Amino acid sequence: MRNRLDSWDNYTYGIKSLYGQSPVRFLQLLSERMREDVLELMRKRQCLARKQGHGSYPELVLWSEDLRLESVRTLLLDQIRKNLPVVTALVKGYGITWSSWTGDLVSVGYHSKMDYARLVSLILQRLGFDRLNAAISIVVKDQPIAGYVGILSVPDDVRILLRPVNNLKQELTLYHELGHAIAHALNKEKGIFKTWTSAYDEAMATVIERIAALIVLDNAQEKRAQDLWILEETRCATSALFELDLWEQPQAAKDLYLKYYGAWNIEVASADVWAADSFRSIDPVYIQNYVIAAYVADRTVEFLRHKYEDKFSEWGRWLVKNYYADGRRRSLADKFAAVGDLL
Ligand SMILES: [Zn+2]
Repeated sequence: MRNRLDSWDNYTYGIKSLYGQSPVRFLQLLSERMREDVLELMRKRQCLARKQGHGSYPELVLWSEDLRLESVRTLLLDQIRKNLPVVTALVKGYGITWSSWTGDLVSVGYHSKMDYARLVSLILQRLGFDRLNAAISIVVKDQPIAGYVGILSVPDDVRILLRPVNNLKQELTLYHELGHAIAHALNKEKGIFKTWTSAYDEAMATVIERIAALIVLDNAQEKRAQDLWILEETRCATSALFELDLWEQPQAAKDLYLKYYGAWNIEVASADVWAADSFRSIDPVYIQNYVIAAYVADRTVEFLRHKYEDKFSEWGRWLVKNYYADGRRRSLADKFAAVGDLL
């Protein structure tokens, strides 16, 4: 890295000076400032992964999750192929543009007046997890992150930080974060097995996001949630495929961006923004976890519905026994084997 850490303004790439630009221009300028550092970080990560005997940095990351690169790539391509025709219709129906899709997608959904604390209690109660009301706390604050889970102590102090809930997307984020929190609060292990891997963590969050939607949303809201999930899954799969190729050909970033994002059949306002995406620098080789998570969650819900119909307390018991209780003692693939094959 070049020596950029000499002042806060340099550390944040002078973001303040970019305020007032249009969102696309902001991202272009930010990306321009970040690009060399992002590429340098990639080179360093690649080099360190190879020193440890792995073919590439993505291979190292996925190896640590018991996943194989080519299987992940196949899953991502399958999801895109399956979703694109549906997505084309959704893009038209909701008037989605490249900017809104790569942004917050709040156009899908509507304001839902909700008492989030009551709904969270209801979800916990239906799943037989009432006791978690004491272990999980929720702080709602107007802040930049949609949702975040801070794990202070497993299993008894797990905190959710959330933006105020004023649309369906944000409501689903609450259920997603609740899913992260539940998995940690129901981990019965000690020591290192109290920890988690990223694919497991996102899968557990998405499982509860789906189940909570079944418990609390009406039919119209649920339909919109399905639309949102398809759009987000496609966005994440696109981003992940772009990134996997980027690790192999970093010099071709713009062409690769256009190749993958161009497949949406909507106008890509700028390929120059690629380096501003935090998944290319602070969270590299992470975005695929959301696609894996959606795959695991959809099949788990199908499995539980078939096995226990709408007896959600049975769903809860099954989740504790098969997913949560033994924490990191078994990999996500091992846990999911009760439902199906993972990659
Ligand atoms: Zn998550």
